[in-house]
Amino acid sequence: MSGRTKIVATIGPASDSADVLGDLIDAGMDVVRLNLSHGGLGGHLERLARVRAVAAERGRPIAVLADLPGPKIRAGAFPEGGVALVAGAFVTLRPGDGPSDQSNITVPYPTLIDDLHVGSRVQLGDGAIAMRVTEVGEDAVVAQLETGGEANGRPGVHLSSETLRLPSPTAEDLVLAEAVAAAGVEFIAVSFVRAASDVEEVRAVVGSRAQLVAKIETTAAIDHLHEIIAASDVVMVARGDLGIDCPIEDVPHLQKRIIRHCVEAGVPVITATQMLESMITAPSPTRAEVSDVANAVFDGTDALMLSGETAIGHDPALVVRTMAAVAERAESEASYRQWANRLGRMQQLPHHERMSSIDPITAALTHAASQAAHDAGATAILCCTRSGRTARAMARFRPAARMIGLSPDPSVVRSMGLSWGVEPLEVDVYGTTDEMVWFAVETALRAALVAPGDTVLVLAGAPDPVRPRLAGAATDVLRIVRVE
Ligand code: ATP
Ligand code: MG
Ligand code: MG
Repeated sequence: MSGRTKIVATIGPASDSADVLGDLIDAGMDVVRLNLSHGGLGGHLERLARVRAVAAERGRPIAVLADLPGPKIRAGAFPEGGVALVAGAFVTLRPGDGPSDQSNITVPYPTLIDDLHVGSRVQLGDGAIAMRVTEVGEDAVVAQLETGGEANGRPGVHLSSETLRLPSPTAEDLVLAEAVAAAGVEFIAVSFVRAASDVEEVRAVVGSRAQLVAKIETTAAIDHLHEIIAASDVVMVARGDLGIDCPIEDVPHLQKRIIRHCVEAGVPVITATQMLESMITAPSPTRAEVSDVANAVFDGTDALMLSGETAIGHDPALVVRTMAAVAERAESEASYRQWANRLGRMQQLPHHERMSSIDPITAALTHAASQAAHDAGATAILCCTRSGRTARAMARFRPAARMIGLSPDPSVVRSMGLSWGVEPLEVDVYGTTDEMVWFAVETALRAALVAPGDTVLVLAGAPDPVRPRLAGAATDVLRIVRVE
């Protein structure tokens, strides 16, 4: 069994060829992220088609996550290859749409001049580059760089908390959401979420065509964490902007808190930003980055994310291999049993006091399966699921047994690849629960995921093509079988 923590990799210019995409898949990437902030929609739809083709060639279910730009103000594009902005130097900021260079930065924000005054701080990118305004003119502002750095592509521009007054999702986000949902992506990420209603606005456009990821990157989102988790299918700890909006020293603790609540709620959680950042140019990560990846695994994250490392880095596949190795090593030290125990205790609470929107029957059965797998020394738990919900509910217990998610819906199969430890498999549609159980074991055997002599648990439900759907009773059977 390979690593159980999943890897999301952002693809971009460095990973556009079918060859590199194939290498990323071989290296252990489970989910592809398209960052709609960079490049046009057309280019991303081409990437989507390329991912589908390469994944099909390799027979691997790879999900695609389209990340909406949100109301982030982005500087005009810097020249190809990036430019060095040096501490102490002066730059001119100008409202408008043109490109940026070493001494002139364009900001598509009409009230730039009115909102800035002498002494205002402006940050670029994930906060690495910082400058202070020294002069406000008629049509431009001069600022002196306090911290320099490499400016690449179209970095975000942070003017104190000005950006946060812009609503999210934007009208452009909703248009993009419709387009990527129609194109069939599995996940759509909503940036700068501040309340559950922001997620619901996107849900009203995409319906059930895609699962929604709430990016937690504002203090408002932290204040409304429970309602946002309840309204979302997936959550992302978006540390870049979170570390600008909140005191940076809060970030590691917020990460732990967000992850804990998500695991309890059975909502997959992604830890993102700067995980192996130095590998954009370096062949090996810093010790601090290796520790950060390992600590996210200890925190219990479902998935780890790569951004510029795989989008514009010099060796995207090496980055994924490095991340996979660090994560797998950390998993062997992590105390996953504590999750099962903690959730087991939560299960004792009356249903309405539990922090989870999982239906009580699925919650009860997966809890029983977690205990039974441990007691019976089962090597695998097979989750037969139409929507992926049973597999997600099972994964929250972080069982030692391998988890296999079986669904007849190819898009659900791909999306299960984001959940901790779930190995997705496509199956046919069966007429009875007995058939479903039998074929689940058979399919897992053929895929060499279980072996004769293994004790295996199967979670299944009444197949709905034959009987009318019983409200709420999606999963209602737990079988324990010895594989012959
Ligand atoms: P976000 O706030 O959404 O994370 P970001 O600007 O931090 O946005 P990332 O996706 O985290 O972007 O990092 C990707 C890096 O790769 C950025 O520096 C970006 O400039 C660069 N890049 C260039 N082209 C692309 C592309 N087509 N897709 C993604 N990233 C790209
Ligand atoms: Mg962001
Ligand atoms: Mg980022």
